[in-house]
Amino acid sequence: MMSLIKNLLIAFLIFLIISGLFTLLNNQAEKAEVISLSRLVEQINLEQVNRIVIRGDKLEIELKNGDKKTTAKEKEISLTESLKNYGVDPEKLKLANLDVKEESGLIFWLGAILPFLLPLLIVALFFWYMFRGAQKGTMQAFSFGRSKAKLFTPKDGKEKVTFNDVAGLKEAKEELEEIVEFLKNPKKFTQLGAKIPKGVLLVGAPGTGKTLLARAVATEAGVPFFSVSGSEFIELFVGVGSARTRDLFQTAKKNAPALVFIDELDAIGRQRGIGLGGAHEEREQTLNQILVEMDGFEPNSGIILLGATNRPDVLDPALLRPGRFDRRVVLDLPDLKDREEILRIHSRDKVLAKDINFKEIAERTPGFSGADLANLANEAAILAARRNKKEVEQTELRESIEKVLLGPERKSHILSKKEKEIAAYHEAGHALVNASLTHTDPVQKVSIIARGPAAGYTLKLPIQDRHLHSRSEFIDELAVFMGGYAAEKLVFNEITTGAANDLEKATDLARRLVTQYGMSEKLGPTTYGEREEIGFWGQELANKNYSEEVAVQIDKEITKFIDDAFQTAQKILTDKRKKLDQIAKKLIKKEAIERKEFERLMKKKVK
Ligand code: ADP
Ligand code: MG
Ligand code: ZN
Repeated sequence: MMSLIKNLLIAFLIFLIISGLFTLLNNQAEKAEVISLSRLVEQINLEQVNRIVIRGDKLEIELKNGDKKTTAKEKEISLTESLKNYGVDPEKLKLANLDVKEESGLIFWLGAILPFLLPLLIVALFFWYMFRGAQKGTMQAFSFGRSKAKLFTPKDGKEKVTFNDVAGLKEAKEELEEIVEFLKNPKKFTQLGAKIPKGVLLVGAPGTGKTLLARAVATEAGVPFFSVSGSEFIELFVGVGSARTRDLFQTAKKNAPALVFIDELDAIGRQRGIGLGGAHEEREQTLNQILVEMDGFEPNSGIILLGATNRPDVLDPALLRPGRFDRRVVLDLPDLKDREEILRIHSRDKVLAKDINFKEIAERTPGFSGADLANLANEAAILAARRNKKEVEQTELRESIEKVLLGPERKSHILSKKEKEIAAYHEAGHALVNASLTHTDPVQKVSIIARGPAAGYTLKLPIQDRHLHSRSEFIDELAVFMGGYAAEKLVFNEITTGAANDLEKATDLARRLVTQYGMSEKLGPTTYGEREEIGFWGQELANKNYSEEVAVQIDKEITKFIDDAFQTAQKILTDKRKKLDQIAKKLIKKEAIERKEFERLMKKKVK
C-alpha cells in the first residue's frame, strides 16, 4: 500500500513540473503583443519596423523602439502579396528587413502534438509503473486471487537442497527418485503406455523431513517448483482459496514440466461434511477446486503434485482416490543409524572437536525427529560459543539433548528448603519405581533443576528404538507416573500441585489403554469413541459412540488402572524406603544425578 501512495506522489510531482514548464514556455511566446496585419502595414509605412522574422505563418516583428509584436499572415499566399493587399508601400517594405526562417518540421510537429501527447505519456508511464509493482508482488491490493506460491527454479542456488542433504528415509527417497525420473524422462514411461502418477502424498510426523524432501525432489528433477502451504489458501474471504488454487495450477501448467508442492495439506484437505462456519465453507470450496484441477490435467502433462501432511487420517477420502494422491510415501522417525547421519549433516558447517562421537548422541536420542536433531546440533554450537570455546565438544552436544527435550534450564527458579525436599522425594519416587520394575527404560538422569515448565524431571530413554508397546510396559509406565505422587504421600503425608501433571498424563494413558488399545480385560478389544473435527476453529472432540453404561464402565476401568498403578508404586516405595531416602538426599545435595551414578547408587547397600 505504501508503494502505491509513493507511486501516485511521484506521478503527481512529474505532472506538476511538466505543466509548470508548459505555462512558462507559453507565457514567453505570448509576451509579444498580437497585432493585426493592417496595423503591421501601417507601421511599415510609418517606417517603424526594424525587422520581420517569418516562421511559417507566424510573423515576429521587431519595432525600431525595441517593442516586439507578433501577427500571422494569411495562409496559402506569400507575405509580400498579403501585405500588398493591405496596401503596403513597396519602397517602405524594402526598409523593413524581411527574414524568412524555415520552420523545422520536427519542432513544428512536436509543438503541435506535445500538448496532447504528454499527458497521455504520463498516464501510460504511471500504469506501467503500477503493473511492474503488481508483478513484483508489492501490490497486494491487486493480487488477491493470486496464489502465494513461491517459485523455486532449478537455477536458484541459495536454497538448493539435494538428496545428499537428506539422511536416512531410504524407501521414501527411492520412491521419489522415481518421480524425478518421471519428470526428467517422461518418454521412457509413456512409450510403454505407463501413466505417470499425478499426486504423491508425503506422510510423516512433524519434523521428519517432508518439506525438506520435497525441495530435494525439485532440485534433483531440475524443474520449476511451486511451493505453497495449505494454510495460505484459507483467508477470511470465501472464494479466495479456490481462486488461488486455479491460479496456482494455471501457472504450473505454463511452466510444465513442473512440481506443485502443497505443504500441510490437511489444512485444506480435511473431510468435508463436518463442522460449521465460514472457515469451513472456504476450505470445502478450496478442496473442491483442488479436486477439479487434479482431474483437469492430463496424466502425462508433466505436472506432479506433491502433498505433505502429518494427519493423513483426517484427509478427505476423495483426495486419496486413484488418479489423485494415489501414491503415499511414509516418512518414519529416524532410527539410530539415521540419527547419527542427520547429526553429521547438520554439523557439516560447524567447527567440531576431533573426538566428537555422534553415535553416543544418537543412542541417547530415540524418538527425536530430524528437526529435533538439527535443533540439537545448533544448540550445541550456541552453547559452545557462549562458553567461549573454539570448537563444539561432546559435552555441549550431550547437554543440548535435554535442552531440546525439556526446554532450557531455569537455574533462577529457586526452591525453598522445604520445596527442594519435596521435589527431591518426588523425583526420587519416579526414579526408584522405574528402576524397580522390569518393563521400563533405564533412568538417564534425575534432576530437581527446573527445566521448561517442569520443576524437576526424571529422564528415561529406551536403549533401542521401539515401535510396538506392550500392555506390561504401559502398566509399568503408569506406576512410574504415580511414583512421584506416592512418594510425596508416603514421606510427607501430603500432596502438592507438583504431581498434577503426572496425574493428568497417567489418566490420559489409562484412557487410551481402555478406549483405543483394547487393553482392558473387562471391556475387551473394542475401541470406543471416534475422533472427529467439529466447530469453527477445527477443534477435535471425541465423539461418543457408546452408551451411558459403557461410559460408566470405561471410567471404572480407568480408575482401576490408576489405582493399581498407585498401589504398585506405594508398595515399592514402602519396601525400599531407605533407598528412597538415599536418592532424595543425594538429589538435595547435588540437584542432578546422571545414569551411571544412579546405577551405582541403586546397587549400593543400604545401611
Ligand atoms: P516436516 O516433515 O515437518 O516438513 P521439515 O522437512 O520441515 O519437516 O524438517 C525440518 C528440518 O529438520 C529440516 O529443515 C532439516 O534441517 C531437518 N531434517 C528433518 N529430517 C531430516 C533428514 N532426514 N535429514 C536431514 N535433515 C533433516
Ligand atoms: Mg513441513
Ligand atoms: Zn512427577
